[in-house]
Amino acid sequence: APMRQNSVPNGNSPLKLFTQAKTTITDIFKHISTYVNDSNIFLADVTKSDKKLLTVDKHDDLQQLKEKVTRILTIISRDHMKVVFFGRTSNGKSTVMNAMLRERILPAGMGHTTNCFLQIEGTDKLDAYVLVPPSDEPKSIVSLKDLGSALSREKLNSDSLVKILYPKEKCRLLRDDVILVDSPGIDVSANLDQWIEDHCLDADVFVLVVSAEATITVAEKKFLHNVAQRLSNPNIFILMNRWDAIVNEEENVDKVRQQHLERGMEFLCDELHLYDRKVVADYRVFFVSAREAVLHRAPDPSSSPRTGFAEGYKERLTEFTKFEQEFEKCISKAAVRTKFEQHTNRGKEIINLLRDTMVNITDKSHSLKQQTVQKRTEESEKHDFIEKELKSMMETTKDRIRHVSEDVYKRVAQ
Ligand code: GDP
Repeated sequence: APMRQNSVPNGNSPLKLFTQAKTTITDIFKHISTYVNDSNIFLADVTKSDKKLLTVDKHDDLQQLKEKVTRILTIISRDHMKVVFFGRTSNGKSTVMNAMLRERILPAGMGHTTNCFLQIEGTDKLDAYVLVPPSDEPKSIVSLKDLGSALSREKLNSDSLVKILYPKEKCRLLRDDVILVDSPGIDVSANLDQWIEDHCLDADVFVLVVSAEATITVAEKKFLHNVAQRLSNPNIFILMNRWDAIVNEEENVDKVRQQHLERGMEFLCDELHLYDRKVVADYRVFFVSAREAVLHRAPDPSSSPRTGFAEGYKERLTEFTKFEQEFEKCISKAAVRTKFEQHTNRGKEIINLLRDTMVNITDKSHSLKQQTVQKRTEESEKHDFIEKELKSMMETTKDRIRHVSEDVYKRVAQ
């Protein structure tokens, strides 16, 4: 059987920037942890031998560093890259996500519309499972139909979050620590601020999935305006999806494309002031067919391998791949910057605190030693003086005694 695309290891993925940075920073914090432990042993000895060298408060602060470092290591191990997909219902969000995952994980085009947030993340377990609030009981999912019907059975608030834990082993994107979030179809009634507050503040990238047969809606624009207010310089991609349908129906495809591009540039450049026009045209707006991408990457075993591809599909597949490349570069860079900059600063603080303490102790200990030497010298000089005094005193006394005894002797002899 031919090797499936997603089982090919991808060592060159731009996502490696993040995963390698994570490994490196983990190693650094493990070193810091050893250093903190060694220092604590040393400091315990120091305080035992001389209370003056380190105040109790300072000693307590330093003891707590151990826990702090352990906590940071846990946070780092959980750090990930996060992308949020949004757009109107049926624009193809689920299909885009499945194409990127190279697996039909999300129920798409099954008459199911996602009415809550759906998060897909990797698990080291071998079988997929789902966490549906408010229960924290993992439910196993055997098939996609299970998931679809499980979700439509639940009465879920549009703001709640269902987590799908999918085996990392089966999917490169999840293995490389990407978390994908599907949002409910966006419309004017949506509580956008709440959505952003609850699910988007830690997102590294936003992908707006638009149907090329329509245009960007007021609700979608409003969402991004609110995002841009809360997050400085958000990373946004626009996917003009269902491009296969346009190519099939429209006579003047280039003109339609240019119009969409123009609107995309107006929005991202002139309204949100995020990028310049060339960047948007080359790297932020893509004309794709998610349906063809899924068919190509995760073929439907029940139909002939050729069905479902419209004329010129190769170009659209290339465009989809180009989008993914840009997306991967963008998300890994953003995540490294936002997540690891904090850790790096914390690490520096810890090291500086320890170094300052050590230098302080060495200085204090040095000056105490000098004081002792000084004291000793003073004492010995005093001693010398006393000795000398004593000696001379004795001499004088001896002389006196001699005189007295001579005197006595003389008188007696008389
Ligand atoms: P969502 O509600 O935004 O998640 O949309 P879905 O991914 O569920 O897609 C809605 C319907 O549009 C499904 O029947 C998909 O098969 C179909 N669809 C998605 N992407 C494309 C595309 O690029 N071209 C065409 N022709 N249909 C698509």
